Amino acid sequence: RIKVSQGVPDQESDSADLRKVEDWLQPFRLSREKLREVSARLRRDLIRGLGKHTHHRAPVKMLPTFVRATPDGTEKGDFLALDLGGTNFRVLHVRVVEDQQKVLKMDSKICAIPQEIMLGPGEQLFDHIAACLSEFLESLGLKGLTLPLGFTFSFPCEQKDIDKSILIRWTKGFNCSGVEGEDVVGLLREAIHRRGDYDIGPVAMVNDTVGTMMSCGYRDRSCEIGMIIGTGTNACYMEEIKNVKRVEGEDGRMCINTEWGGFGDDGSLKDIQTEFDVEVDRKSLNPGVHAFEKMISGMYLGEVVRLVLIKLAQEKMLFGGETSEALLTPDKFETRYISEIEEDATGLDRALEILSELGLPAGQEDCEIVHLVCSTISTRSSELCAAALATIANRIRSNRGLDHLHTTVGVDGTVYKKHPKFSQRLHAALRILAPKCEISFLVSEDGSGKGAAMVTAVAQRLAAQSRL
Ligand code: BGC
Ligand code: MG
Repeated sequence: RIKVSQGVPDQESDSADLRKVEDWLQPFRLSREKLREVSARLRRDLIRGLGKHTHHRAPVKMLPTFVRATPDGTEKGDFLALDLGGTNFRVLHVRVVEDQQKVLKMDSKICAIPQEIMLGPGEQLFDHIAACLSEFLESLGLKGLTLPLGFTFSFPCEQKDIDKSILIRWTKGFNCSGVEGEDVVGLLREAIHRRGDYDIGPVAMVNDTVGTMMSCGYRDRSCEIGMIIGTGTNACYMEEIKNVKRVEGEDGRMCINTEWGGFGDDGSLKDIQTEFDVEVDRKSLNPGVHAFEKMISGMYLGEVVRLVLIKLAQEKMLFGGETSEALLTPDKFETRYISEIEEDATGLDRALEILSELGLPAGQEDCEIVHLVCSTISTRSSELCAAALATIANRIRSNRGLDHLHTTVGVDGTVYKKHPKFSQRLHAALRILAPKCEISFLVSEDGSGKGAAMVTAVAQRLAAQSRL
Protein backbone atom coordinates (compact mmCIF):
# COMPACT_ATOMS: atom_id res chain seq x y z
CA ARG A 1 0.00 0.00 0.00
CA ILE A 2 1.33 3.40 -0.84
CA LYS A 3 1.46 6.00 1.87
CA VAL A 4 -0.63 9.05 1.06
CA SER A 5 0.58 12.48 2.03
CA GLN A 6 0.04 13.65 5.57
CA GLY A 7 -1.64 17.06 5.10
CA VAL A 8 -4.78 16.52 7.18
CA PRO A 9 -7.33 18.54 5.21
CA ASP A 10 -6.20 17.01 1.88
CA GLN A 11 -5.92 13.47 3.06
CA GLU A 12 -9.47 12.43 2.36
CA SER A 13 -9.52 13.74 -1.18
CA ASP A 14 -5.99 12.43 -1.88
CA SER A 15 -6.85 8.87 -1.09
CA ALA A 16 -10.19 9.21 -2.84
CA ASP A 17 -8.34 10.21 -6.05
CA LEU A 18 -5.93 7.38 -5.65
CA ARG A 19 -8.85 4.99 -5.25
CA LYS A 20 -10.47 6.40 -8.36
CA VAL A 21 -7.31 5.70 -10.32
CA GLU A 22 -7.11 2.22 -8.78
CA ASP A 23 -10.58 1.45 -10.13
CA TRP A 24 -9.72 2.94 -13.45
CA LEU A 25 -6.65 0.67 -13.73
CA GLN A 26 -8.75 -2.44 -13.15
CA PRO A 27 -8.38 -3.76 -16.75
CA PHE A 28 -4.65 -4.17 -16.09
CA ARG A 29 -5.23 -6.44 -13.09
CA LEU A 30 -5.51 -10.10 -13.90
CA SER A 31 -7.24 -12.42 -11.49
CA ARG A 32 -5.75 -15.77 -10.59
CA GLU A 33 -8.48 -17.38 -12.65
CA LYS A 34 -7.64 -15.27 -15.68
CA LEU A 35 -3.95 -16.11 -15.34
CA ARG A 36 -4.84 -19.81 -15.22
CA GLU A 37 -6.88 -19.36 -18.38
CA VAL A 38 -4.00 -17.59 -20.12
CA SER A 39 -1.69 -20.42 -19.10
CA ALA A 40 -4.15 -23.00 -20.48
CA ARG A 41 -4.45 -21.12 -23.79
CA LEU A 42 -0.68 -21.10 -24.14
CA ARG A 43 -0.63 -24.84 -23.42
CA ARG A 44 -2.83 -25.41 -26.47
CA ASP A 45 -0.70 -23.07 -28.55
CA LEU A 46 2.53 -24.90 -27.66
CA ILE A 47 0.98 -28.07 -29.06
CA ARG A 48 -0.23 -26.28 -32.19
CA GLY A 49 3.26 -24.88 -32.75
CA LEU A 50 4.87 -28.32 -32.47
CA GLY A 51 2.41 -30.07 -34.81
CA LYS A 52 3.28 -30.79 -38.42
CA HIS A 53 -0.02 -29.62 -39.85
CA THR A 54 -0.87 -26.93 -37.32
CA HIS A 55 2.52 -25.25 -37.21
CA HIS A 56 2.16 -22.94 -40.20
CA ARG A 57 -0.79 -21.12 -38.66
CA ALA A 58 0.36 -21.25 -35.05
CA PRO A 59 1.07 -17.91 -33.34
CA VAL A 60 3.64 -19.51 -31.00
CA LYS A 61 6.22 -20.89 -33.40
CA MET A 62 7.96 -23.55 -31.26
CA LEU A 63 11.12 -23.51 -33.35
CA PRO A 64 13.57 -26.43 -33.29
CA THR A 65 17.08 -25.25 -32.36
CA PHE A 66 19.11 -28.36 -33.16
CA VAL A 67 20.52 -28.16 -29.67
CA ARG A 68 20.07 -31.74 -28.48
CA ALA A 69 22.19 -31.78 -25.40
CA THR A 70 23.06 -29.51 -22.55
CA PRO A 71 26.74 -29.35 -21.53
CA ASP A 72 28.29 -32.46 -19.96
CA GLY A 73 31.33 -30.69 -18.59
CA THR A 74 33.87 -32.05 -21.05
CA GLU A 75 33.63 -29.17 -23.48
CA LYS A 76 36.65 -26.95 -24.02
CA GLY A 77 38.38 -24.46 -26.28
CA ASP A 78 38.46 -20.84 -27.47
CA PHE A 79 35.52 -19.25 -29.21
CA LEU A 80 34.27 -16.01 -30.60
CA ALA A 81 30.75 -14.92 -29.84
CA LEU A 82 28.46 -12.30 -31.31
CA ASP A 83 25.39 -11.08 -29.50
CA LEU A 84 22.83 -9.19 -31.57
CA GLY A 85 19.31 -8.24 -30.61
CA GLY A 86 19.42 -7.24 -26.97
CA THR A 87 20.21 -3.88 -25.44
CA ASN A 88 23.73 -3.83 -26.94
CA PHE A 89 25.56 -5.47 -29.80
CA ARG A 90 28.65 -7.20 -28.47
CA VAL A 91 31.57 -9.22 -29.68
CA LEU A 92 33.34 -11.56 -27.27
CA HIS A 93 36.30 -13.87 -26.93
CA VAL A 94 35.36 -16.77 -24.66
CA ARG A 95 37.33 -19.69 -23.25
CA VAL A 96 35.72 -22.88 -22.03
CA VAL A 97 38.00 -24.53 -19.48
CA GLU A 98 37.33 -28.21 -19.05
CA ASP A 99 38.76 -29.17 -15.66
CA GLN A 100 37.46 -26.09 -13.88
CA GLN A 101 34.10 -26.42 -15.63
CA LYS A 102 34.22 -22.74 -16.30
CA VAL A 103 33.37 -20.45 -19.13
CA LEU A 104 35.63 -17.44 -19.07
CA LYS A 105 34.98 -14.21 -20.84
CA MET A 106 38.46 -13.23 -22.00
CA ASP A 107 37.55 -9.96 -23.68
CA SER A 108 34.50 -8.25 -25.01
CA LYS A 109 33.52 -5.09 -26.76
CA ILE A 110 30.25 -3.27 -27.20
CA CYS A 111 29.66 -1.78 -30.63
CA ALA A 112 26.93 0.77 -31.12
CA ILE A 113 24.48 0.11 -33.90
CA PRO A 114 23.12 3.43 -35.12
CA GLN A 115 19.41 3.48 -35.78
CA GLU A 116 19.83 4.06 -39.50
CA ILE A 117 21.65 0.73 -39.63
CA MET A 118 18.93 -0.98 -37.58
CA LEU A 119 16.40 0.16 -40.15
CA GLY A 120 18.57 0.11 -43.30
CA PRO A 121 19.59 -2.54 -45.84
CA GLY A 122 20.67 -5.90 -44.41
CA GLU A 123 23.99 -5.85 -46.24
CA GLN A 124 24.95 -2.70 -44.38
CA LEU A 125 24.05 -4.31 -41.05
CA PHE A 126 26.23 -7.35 -41.71
CA ASP A 127 29.09 -5.20 -43.00
CA HIS A 128 28.89 -3.25 -39.77
CA ILE A 129 28.96 -6.46 -37.70
CA ALA A 130 31.91 -7.82 -39.68
CA ALA A 131 33.76 -4.54 -39.21
CA CYS A 132 33.23 -4.60 -35.42
CA LEU A 133 34.52 -8.14 -35.27
CA SER A 134 37.53 -7.16 -37.39
CA GLU A 135 38.45 -4.31 -35.04
CA PHE A 136 38.04 -6.57 -32.03
CA LEU A 137 40.27 -9.32 -33.47
CA GLU A 138 42.82 -6.75 -34.55
CA SER A 139 43.01 -5.21 -31.07
CA LEU A 140 43.56 -8.63 -29.49
CA GLY A 141 45.98 -9.88 -32.12
CA LEU A 142 43.65 -12.79 -32.98
CA LYS A 143 43.21 -12.12 -36.68
CA GLY A 144 45.42 -14.99 -37.80
CA LEU A 145 43.37 -17.61 -35.94
CA THR A 146 40.22 -19.10 -37.38
CA LEU A 147 38.11 -19.57 -34.27
CA PRO A 148 34.69 -21.18 -34.12
CA LEU A 149 31.96 -18.65 -33.60
CA GLY A 150 28.74 -18.71 -31.63
CA PHE A 151 26.21 -16.24 -32.97
CA THR A 152 23.46 -15.21 -30.59
CA PHE A 153 20.80 -13.77 -32.82
CA SER A 154 17.78 -12.85 -30.77
CA PHE A 155 15.03 -13.03 -33.37
CA PRO A 156 12.71 -15.80 -34.54
CA CYS A 157 14.56 -18.05 -36.96
CA GLU A 158 13.64 -21.26 -38.72
CA GLN A 159 16.76 -23.33 -38.13
CA LYS A 160 17.62 -25.94 -40.71
CA ASP A 161 20.64 -26.96 -38.75
CA ILE A 162 22.89 -25.57 -36.05
CA ASP A 163 24.63 -23.41 -38.71
CA LYS A 164 21.75 -22.64 -41.01
CA SER A 165 19.11 -20.31 -39.75
CA ILE A 166 16.52 -18.38 -41.69
CA LEU A 167 15.11 -15.19 -40.24
CA ILE A 168 11.32 -15.41 -40.04
CA ARG A 169 10.86 -11.78 -39.10
CA TRP A 170 12.53 -8.92 -37.32
CA THR A 171 11.16 -7.89 -33.93
CA LYS A 172 11.91 -5.17 -31.35
CA GLY A 173 13.84 -2.22 -32.83
CA PHE A 174 15.19 -3.89 -35.98
CA ASN A 175 13.78 -3.75 -39.48
CA CYS A 176 16.57 -4.25 -42.05
CA SER A 177 15.54 -4.98 -45.60
CA GLY A 178 16.58 -8.14 -47.44
CA VAL A 179 17.16 -10.35 -44.40
CA GLU A 180 13.77 -11.93 -43.69
CA GLY A 181 13.66 -15.29 -45.45
CA GLU A 182 17.47 -15.42 -45.74
CA ASP A 183 20.08 -17.56 -44.00
CA VAL A 184 21.67 -15.30 -41.41
CA VAL A 185 24.87 -17.35 -41.13
CA GLY A 186 25.32 -17.02 -44.90
CA LEU A 187 24.88 -13.25 -44.73
CA LEU A 188 27.49 -13.02 -41.97
CA ARG A 189 30.00 -15.18 -43.87
CA GLU A 190 29.48 -13.16 -47.05
CA ALA A 191 30.13 -9.91 -45.20
CA ILE A 192 33.35 -11.34 -43.70
CA HIS A 193 34.47 -12.57 -47.12
CA ARG A 194 33.75 -9.16 -48.67
CA ARG A 195 36.33 -7.73 -46.27
CA GLY A 196 38.82 -10.52 -46.73
CA ASP A 197 41.00 -9.57 -43.73
CA TYR A 198 40.13 -12.51 -41.44
CA ASP A 199 38.09 -15.69 -41.36
CA ILE A 200 35.95 -17.62 -38.91
CA GLY A 201 35.58 -21.35 -38.24
CA PRO A 202 32.35 -23.32 -37.84
CA VAL A 203 29.37 -21.25 -36.73
CA ALA A 204 26.58 -22.15 -34.31
CA MET A 205 23.46 -20.00 -34.35
CA VAL A 206 21.56 -19.56 -31.12
CA ASN A 207 18.63 -17.64 -29.85
CA ASP A 208 19.44 -15.68 -26.67
CA THR A 209 17.10 -17.89 -24.64
CA VAL A 210 19.12 -20.92 -25.72
CA GLY A 211 22.41 -19.22 -24.93
CA THR A 212 21.08 -18.36 -21.50
CA MET A 213 19.92 -21.91 -20.80
CA MET A 214 23.23 -23.35 -21.99
CA SER A 215 25.41 -20.97 -20.01
CA CYS A 216 23.49 -21.84 -16.84
CA GLY A 217 23.54 -25.50 -17.79
CA TYR A 218 27.27 -25.58 -17.32
CA ARG A 219 26.81 -24.65 -13.66
CA ASP A 220 23.54 -26.50 -13.01
CA ARG A 221 22.75 -29.65 -14.99
CA SER A 222 19.04 -29.39 -14.23
CA CYS A 223 18.79 -26.13 -16.15
CA GLU A 224 16.40 -27.00 -18.96
CA ILE A 225 14.56 -23.74 -19.47
CA GLY A 226 15.97 -20.42 -20.66
CA MET A 227 14.00 -17.20 -20.31
CA ILE A 228 14.60 -13.60 -21.37
CA ILE A 229 12.70 -10.62 -20.05
CA GLY A 230 14.59 -7.71 -21.49
CA THR A 231 14.07 -5.56 -24.58
CA GLY A 232 11.96 -8.47 -25.82
CA THR A 233 10.69 -11.61 -24.10
CA ASN A 234 10.90 -15.31 -24.92
CA ALA A 235 11.68 -18.73 -23.50
CA CYS A 236 13.11 -22.07 -24.62
CA TYR A 237 13.04 -25.51 -22.99
CA MET A 238 14.04 -29.12 -23.60
CA GLU A 239 11.21 -30.96 -25.37
CA GLU A 240 10.96 -34.67 -26.21
CA ILE A 241 11.93 -35.11 -29.86
CA LYS A 242 9.00 -37.41 -30.43
CA ASN A 243 6.72 -34.43 -29.76
CA VAL A 244 8.55 -32.20 -32.23
CA LYS A 245 6.66 -33.38 -35.27
CA ARG A 246 8.63 -31.32 -37.76
CA VAL A 247 11.95 -32.97 -36.83
CA GLU A 248 12.75 -36.62 -37.54
CA GLY A 249 13.48 -38.89 -34.63
CA GLU A 250 11.84 -40.48 -31.64
CA ASP A 251 14.52 -40.59 -28.98
CA GLY A 252 16.03 -37.89 -26.89
CA ARG A 253 15.30 -34.22 -26.51
CA MET A 254 15.75 -31.03 -28.42
CA CYS A 255 15.69 -27.48 -27.20
CA ILE A 256 12.67 -25.62 -28.57
CA ASN A 257 12.66 -21.86 -28.96
CA THR A 258 9.02 -21.15 -28.16
CA GLU A 259 8.90 -17.52 -29.39
CA TRP A 260 6.17 -16.93 -26.83
CA GLY A 261 6.25 -13.24 -27.74
CA GLY A 262 3.89 -14.16 -30.58
CA PHE A 263 1.27 -15.55 -28.20
CA GLY A 264 -2.00 -13.73 -28.88
CA ASP A 265 -1.22 -12.89 -32.51
CA ASP A 266 -4.32 -14.84 -33.56
CA GLY A 267 -6.46 -12.73 -31.24
CA SER A 268 -6.48 -15.19 -28.34
CA LEU A 269 -5.54 -12.49 -25.81
CA LYS A 270 -8.14 -9.93 -26.90
CA ASP A 271 -9.97 -10.19 -23.59
CA ILE A 272 -6.97 -8.94 -21.62
CA GLN A 273 -5.56 -6.39 -24.05
CA THR A 274 -6.42 -2.82 -23.13
CA GLU A 275 -6.89 0.11 -25.50
CA PHE A 276 -3.31 1.08 -24.53
CA ASP A 277 -1.89 -2.25 -25.67
CA VAL A 278 -3.71 -1.84 -28.97
CA GLU A 279 -2.22 1.63 -29.36
CA VAL A 280 1.33 0.48 -28.53
CA ASP A 281 0.96 -2.25 -31.14
CA ARG A 282 -0.42 0.11 -33.77
CA LYS A 283 2.53 2.50 -33.41
CA SER A 284 5.22 -0.19 -33.27
CA LEU A 285 7.64 -1.19 -36.03
CA ASN A 286 5.77 -4.51 -36.37
CA PRO A 287 2.04 -3.94 -35.92
CA GLY A 288 -0.06 -7.07 -35.54
CA VAL A 289 2.77 -9.26 -34.27
CA HIS A 290 4.16 -10.14 -30.84
CA ALA A 291 1.07 -9.22 -28.83
CA PHE A 292 2.30 -11.00 -25.70
CA GLU A 293 5.74 -9.41 -25.90
CA LYS A 294 4.18 -5.97 -26.14
CA MET A 295 2.43 -6.44 -22.78
CA ILE A 296 5.62 -7.59 -21.11
CA SER A 297 9.00 -6.49 -22.34
CA GLY A 298 11.23 -3.50 -21.82
CA MET A 299 10.83 -2.13 -25.32
CA TYR A 300 7.14 -1.48 -24.59
CA LEU A 301 6.46 -1.15 -20.85
CA GLY A 302 7.46 2.51 -20.72
CA GLU A 303 5.19 3.24 -23.66
CA VAL A 304 2.19 1.58 -22.01
CA VAL A 305 2.82 3.68 -18.90
CA ARG A 306 3.22 6.86 -20.97
CA LEU A 307 -0.07 6.34 -22.79
CA VAL A 308 -1.88 5.66 -19.52
CA LEU A 309 -0.42 8.83 -17.96
CA ILE A 310 -1.60 10.91 -20.93
CA LYS A 311 -5.09 9.49 -20.62
CA LEU A 312 -5.20 10.10 -16.86
CA ALA A 313 -4.10 13.70 -17.40
CA GLN A 314 -6.73 14.20 -20.07
CA GLU A 315 -9.35 12.83 -17.72
CA LYS A 316 -8.18 15.32 -15.09
CA MET A 317 -6.98 12.68 -12.67
CA LEU A 318 -3.32 13.67 -12.97
CA PHE A 319 -1.08 16.75 -13.31
CA GLY A 320 -4.06 19.06 -12.87
CA GLY A 321 -5.22 18.01 -16.31
CA GLU A 322 -2.00 19.09 -18.06
CA THR A 323 0.37 17.18 -20.30
CA SER A 324 3.74 18.28 -21.72
CA GLU A 325 5.53 18.03 -25.04
CA ALA A 326 7.84 15.38 -23.61
CA LEU A 327 4.99 13.27 -22.29
CA LEU A 328 3.34 13.43 -25.70
CA THR A 329 6.55 12.21 -27.41
CA PRO A 330 6.88 8.44 -28.06
CA ASP A 331 9.47 6.61 -25.94
CA LYS A 332 10.12 9.58 -23.65
CA PHE A 333 8.93 7.66 -20.63
CA GLU A 334 11.70 5.08 -20.47
CA THR A 335 11.15 1.62 -19.07
CA ARG A 336 14.00 2.10 -16.61
CA TYR A 337 11.97 4.91 -14.97
CA ILE A 338 9.47 2.27 -13.91
CA SER A 339 12.21 0.39 -12.04
CA GLU A 340 13.47 3.58 -10.44
CA ILE A 341 10.01 4.72 -9.37
CA GLU A 342 9.26 1.36 -7.79
CA GLU A 343 12.33 1.42 -5.54
CA ASP A 344 11.01 1.45 -1.99
CA ALA A 345 13.17 4.05 -0.34
CA THR A 346 13.85 6.44 -3.20
CA GLY A 347 11.04 5.89 -5.69
CA LEU A 348 8.73 8.76 -4.87
CA ASP A 349 11.57 11.29 -4.88
CA ARG A 350 12.79 9.91 -8.15
CA ALA A 351 9.27 10.15 -9.57
CA LEU A 352 9.23 13.86 -8.75
CA GLU A 353 12.57 14.31 -10.54
CA ILE A 354 11.49 12.36 -13.61
CA LEU A 355 8.16 14.12 -13.91
CA SER A 356 9.76 17.52 -13.64
CA GLU A 357 12.36 16.54 -16.26
CA LEU A 358 9.41 15.66 -18.46
CA GLY A 359 8.04 19.16 -17.88
CA LEU A 360 5.05 18.01 -15.86
CA PRO A 361 3.61 19.95 -12.94
CA ALA A 362 3.69 17.17 -10.36
CA GLY A 363 2.89 17.22 -6.68
CA GLN A 364 3.20 14.52 -4.07
CA GLU A 365 -0.11 13.01 -5.02
CA ASP A 366 0.74 12.89 -8.73
CA CYS A 367 3.88 10.96 -7.80
CA GLU A 368 1.82 8.45 -5.88
CA ILE A 369 -0.51 7.99 -8.80
CA VAL A 370 2.37 7.56 -11.23
CA HIS A 371 3.86 5.00 -8.85
CA LEU A 372 0.55 3.15 -8.83
CA VAL A 373 0.42 3.13 -12.64
CA CYS A 374 4.00 1.81 -12.87
CA SER A 375 3.47 -0.94 -10.33
CA THR A 376 0.17 -2.03 -11.89
CA ILE A 377 1.68 -2.35 -15.36
CA SER A 378 4.90 -4.02 -14.25
CA THR A 379 2.93 -6.43 -12.06
CA ARG A 380 0.82 -7.43 -15.03
CA SER A 381 4.02 -8.08 -16.97
CA SER A 382 5.54 -10.28 -14.26
CA GLU A 383 2.32 -12.26 -13.77
CA LEU A 384 1.89 -12.89 -17.48
CA CYS A 385 5.46 -14.20 -17.56
CA ALA A 386 4.64 -16.42 -14.60
CA ALA A 387 1.58 -17.81 -16.40
CA ALA A 388 3.67 -18.62 -19.48
CA LEU A 389 6.51 -20.13 -17.49
CA ALA A 390 4.00 -22.24 -15.53
CA THR A 391 2.75 -23.64 -18.85
CA ILE A 392 6.26 -24.72 -19.81
CA ALA A 393 7.13 -26.19 -16.43
CA ASN A 394 3.87 -28.13 -16.34
CA ARG A 395 4.51 -29.38 -19.83
CA ILE A 396 7.97 -30.71 -18.93
CA ARG A 397 6.45 -32.34 -15.84
CA SER A 398 3.73 -34.12 -17.78
CA ASN A 399 6.14 -35.03 -20.64
CA ARG A 400 8.15 -36.96 -18.08
CA GLY A 401 5.16 -38.42 -16.29
CA LEU A 402 6.23 -36.84 -13.03
CA ASP A 403 4.03 -35.86 -10.17
CA HIS A 404 6.56 -33.29 -9.05
CA LEU A 405 9.19 -31.56 -11.13
CA HIS A 406 12.36 -29.91 -9.90
CA THR A 407 13.90 -27.74 -12.52
CA THR A 408 16.03 -24.67 -13.06
CA VAL A 409 15.38 -21.69 -15.29
CA GLY A 410 18.34 -19.75 -16.63
CA VAL A 411 17.19 -16.17 -16.91
CA ASP A 412 18.45 -12.91 -18.32
CA GLY A 413 17.19 -9.52 -19.40
CA THR A 414 17.15 -5.98 -18.08
CA VAL A 415 13.55 -6.07 -16.85
CA TYR A 416 14.08 -9.21 -14.76
CA LYS A 417 17.45 -8.08 -13.45
CA LYS A 418 16.93 -4.37 -12.88
CA HIS A 419 13.34 -3.98 -11.73
CA PRO A 420 13.31 -4.10 -7.93
CA LYS A 421 10.14 -6.22 -7.56
CA PHE A 422 9.75 -8.06 -10.84
CA SER A 423 11.44 -11.34 -9.97
CA GLN A 424 9.76 -11.54 -6.55
CA ARG A 425 6.31 -11.10 -8.09
CA LEU A 426 7.02 -13.55 -10.86
CA HIS A 427 8.18 -16.22 -8.40
CA ALA A 428 5.15 -15.69 -6.15
CA ALA A 429 2.68 -16.00 -9.02
CA LEU A 430 4.51 -19.03 -10.36
CA ARG A 431 4.18 -20.88 -7.06
CA ILE A 432 0.42 -20.48 -7.38
CA LEU A 433 0.19 -21.32 -11.08
CA ALA A 434 2.57 -24.29 -11.06
CA PRO A 435 2.20 -25.73 -7.55
CA LYS A 436 3.65 -29.12 -8.52
CA CYS A 437 6.84 -27.65 -9.89
CA GLU A 438 9.73 -26.55 -7.76
CA ILE A 439 11.54 -24.04 -9.87
CA SER A 440 14.89 -22.44 -9.17
CA PHE A 441 16.15 -19.42 -11.00
CA LEU A 442 19.71 -18.88 -12.05
CA VAL A 443 20.49 -15.42 -13.31
CA SER A 444 22.80 -15.83 -16.21
CA GLU A 445 25.93 -13.75 -16.35
CA ASP A 446 26.73 -13.03 -19.95
CA GLY A 447 24.47 -15.82 -21.13
CA SER A 448 24.25 -14.67 -24.71
CA GLY A 449 28.00 -14.58 -25.09
CA LYS A 450 29.11 -17.54 -23.01
CA GLY A 451 26.07 -19.59 -23.95
CA ALA A 452 26.69 -19.18 -27.66
CA ALA A 453 30.25 -20.41 -27.10
CA MET A 454 28.84 -23.30 -25.06
CA VAL A 455 26.47 -24.33 -27.86
CA THR A 456 29.36 -24.23 -30.31
CA ALA A 457 31.45 -26.32 -27.91
CA VAL A 458 28.70 -28.89 -27.37
CA ALA A 459 28.13 -29.12 -31.15
CA GLN A 460 31.85 -29.80 -31.61
CA ARG A 461 31.84 -32.43 -28.88
CA LEU A 462 28.88 -34.21 -30.48
CA ALA A 463 30.44 -33.98 -33.95
CA ALA A 464 33.70 -35.45 -32.64
CA GLN A 465 31.83 -38.25 -30.87
CA SER A 466 29.89 -39.15 -33.99
CA ARG A 467 33.15 -39.36 -35.95
CA LEU A 468 34.52 -41.96 -33.49
C1 BGC B 1 12.53 -12.36 -30.23
C2 BGC B 1 13.11 -13.60 -29.57
C3 BGC B 1 14.06 -13.20 -28.46
C4 BGC B 1 13.39 -12.24 -27.50
C5 BGC B 1 14.30 -11.80 -26.37
C6 BGC B 1 11.96 -11.43 -29.18
O1 BGC B 1 11.54 -10.23 -29.78
O2 BGC B 1 11.52 -12.71 -31.14
O3 BGC B 1 13.77 -14.39 -30.53
O4 BGC B 1 14.48 -14.35 -27.78
O5 BGC B 1 12.93 -11.11 -28.20
O6 BGC B 1 15.44 -11.15 -26.85
MG1 MG C 1 20.71 -10.22 -24.39
